[in-house]
Amino acid sequence: MYIHIPWCSKKCPYCDFNSHESPRKIPEKEYVDALIADIKNDLHLAQGRKLSSLFFGGGTPSLFTGSSISTVIKCAEKLIGFTDDVEITLEANPESVNLQKFQDFCKAGVNRISIGIQTFNDQQLNLLGRLHSSYSATKAIEIARSAGFNRINIDLMHGLKEQNVSNALKDLQFAISSEVEHISWYQLTIEKNTKFFNDPPKLPDCRLISEIQDHGCQLLARYGYEQYEISSFAKQRKRCTHNQNYWEFGDYIGIGAGAHGKITLNHEQTLLRTFRTRQPNDYLKHKNRGEKKSIVVEVPQRPLEFMMNVLRLKNGVPLKYFPERTGLQESYISKIVTNLKKEGLLVDTETQLLTTSLGFRFLDTILDRFVRSHGES
Ligand code: SF4
Repeated sequence: MYIHIPWCSKKCPYCDFNSHESPRKIPEKEYVDALIADIKNDLHLAQGRKLSSLFFGGGTPSLFTGSSISTVIKCAEKLIGFTDDVEITLEANPESVNLQKFQDFCKAGVNRISIGIQTFNDQQLNLLGRLHSSYSATKAIEIARSAGFNRINIDLMHGLKEQNVSNALKDLQFAISSEVEHISWYQLTIEKNTKFFNDPPKLPDCRLISEIQDHGCQLLARYGYEQYEISSFAKQRKRCTHNQNYWEFGDYIGIGAGAHGKITLNHEQTLLRTFRTRQPNDYLKHKNRGEKKSIVVEVPQRPLEFMMNVLRLKNGVPLKYFPERTGLQESYISKIVTNLKKEGLLVDTETQLLTTSLGFRFLDTILDRFVRSHGES
């Protein structure tokens, strides 16, 4: 289950997420009531399954109190149920946490913290419009640890203004020395509807980005961080359950303003995507109804949607996931898959769908075949 908390202390100039500068007083109680209405309304989508993961994403979920987070967790547990190894992640920003808050989240049942650090360089933090400093970033990791979290992720960016290989690696070195279990290391891109789109900073060119990525991946591997997805690096058995499920094209229920979900109804061979109102105020107006829109993903779109997710994973997924999770026969994609194997872009195995190292670098080329195919088999 993905739970969206849509407010942030300030909107960052590069951010195109559904995040909104928080009002002086966040309507936290009303929002929690609305989340509970969403859970009640979506119970049938669980189809008898328990939740293996809850992910509080944002926005900045750490703006909420431990008690609000606890209310949502308890409700999900009572109404749907958790697997024994359920992972409960909460995204936090360094400026909105302290030891007490982390302890409260821990007590509420959160067992994984994801901290939005982006860079340990104060000048870059300033350019990114972030409110924290490198000192408070380091401090946030320390206090998360002392509050009892043994699964910590940090989000870091590369490809920042005037960044070179050496200072990109310096950021990674900081992250590695903090001994976090998971690092999401992703490239800054300029997105529409952001301040950076109208006034873009000068970012490193493709060649430099590629050099930064090559060196960064090598450094992370040297320190035991396995790259299991394009931007995700984890110590052994510390992958993010929520993201792994998402990239495996697994089902998830999305609750909260702007949250979306994906459910396969196997008995009907139907794939549903659900969407909730984005604007927090509009969303709150619908709170008693847990309202959402659903669309059926049409057959020709399903192979592309499936591949866009699963091929991001370094080890791919079992081939049987294709029929299970799209409701289509394997034969629907067999001709394209055979051709991609012949071209050395997919690994030649009968049971697994995964890219070769060449294919991993040229994912767009692979995906393009599924865009153009529309079911040609
Ligand atoms: S803190 Fe994160 S979610 Fe909020 S505006 Fe900045 S990048 Fe977006």
